[in-house]
Amino acid sequence: MGEKRLFMDYLPEELEQEITPRFRVKQIYNWVYKKYKEKFEEMSNLPKPLREELDQKFQIPPIEIVRVEKSQLDGTEKYLFKTRDGHTFESVLLKMKDAEIKEGKVKGAKYTVCVSTQIGCKIGCKFCLTAKGGFVRNLSPAEIVGQVWTIKKVKGFEENKAVNIVYMGMGEPLDNYDNLVKAIKIIAHQDGLAISPRRQTISTSGIAPKIEKLGKEGLGVNLAISLHAVDDKLREELIPLNKAYNIQAVIDAIGKFPIDRRKKVMFEYLVIKDVNDDLKSAKKLVKLLNGIPSKVNLIYFNPYPGSPYQRPTEESMKRFQRYLLDKGIICTIRESKGLDISAACGQLKEKEVEERGENRS
Ligand code: SAH
Ligand code: SF4
Repeated sequence: MGEKRLFMDYLPEELEQEITPRFRVKQIYNWVYKKYKEKFEEMSNLPKPLREELDQKFQIPPIEIVRVEKSQLDGTEKYLFKTRDGHTFESVLLKMKDAEIKEGKVKGAKYTVCVSTQIGCKIGCKFCLTAKGGFVRNLSPAEIVGQVWTIKKVKGFEENKAVNIVYMGMGEPLDNYDNLVKAIKIIAHQDGLAISPRRQTISTSGIAPKIEKLGKEGLGVNLAISLHAVDDKLREELIPLNKAYNIQAVIDAIGKFPIDRRKKVMFEYLVIKDVNDDLKSAKKLVKLLNGIPSKVNLIYFNPYPGSPYQRPTEESMKRFQRYLLDKGIICTIRESKGLDISAACGQLKEKEVEERGENRS
């Protein structure tokens, strides 16, 4: 007997092809995504034969939790997951804001889930730990959706608790285009997790034609571009993909991407000591962003054993930020959350590999 199919790989309209009457699909979607049920037999409003049929066809949880690490410094939690074929990868839950009482009402804490899209990555950025292990395989839609579902479930979040999603974990999302787009639609579906695409942000190293294609889907997702350098020579050195799609090609693609009037494209700029932390770069960056509704997120390069670069000083970060702010560009500095558990996006999994001394497959 072959393996069961993964329920989370499917949109309602696909399930409706094989599950009748159609309203059953909505009920099942509700049980799975709003009540976090793992077993069809618990879906009490479905007829027994249907429950049995579903159980023979589908498995609900697509991935398993292997380990959870919690930061002592902030609310960050790192989840190590395992796929059915035995590969491990990670997601990070970032607490963006604590719960507070505002105007007499309790407002819940705000969370962002940093989701992985591939096991490993093909892009090979020189500063990135994920790149070091090479590429293993794409994650399926179910394995992408499952990260959000599992974390919401184990955290006991209410069904309508809105979380933000950033596709900034392991892998290059636009290199797993079809599975990514499907996962976004499944996560957004009203009968399911119902997390609007406006709460979902795709971070890309700059696959220009895929940025354009994504724009044409009209999903309403947010875009984050990993820029990291303002001239092609340096960007090529940091991100080999720049040889195929240089800075101008990426900027042109962004120009064709529909941006919500109230939204901006986020430019991520990884600041590396004595490499790109100078004001000349800041000046060039301002010129480059001219005409694009943009905001800049400066990221401290986070060193790892054997990394070729160093963390910039706080002083140079602030100086860079001040320059952009003075030019009227929104610019934030990304706090390195969960530093004690190396949970910075792009810093995932390797720790597990090192600790256990296993070979990467
Ligand atoms: N592949 C996509 C998304 C995953 S990488 C992309 O490149 O945009 C997500 C983020 O992790 C990127 O912005 C990258 O700059 C960051 N990152 C990778 N290595 C890092 C390091 N050593 N220190 C800090 N951030 C890092
Ligand atoms: Fe891949 Fe992003 Fe890491 Fe580059 S930074 S190797 S694109 S995961």
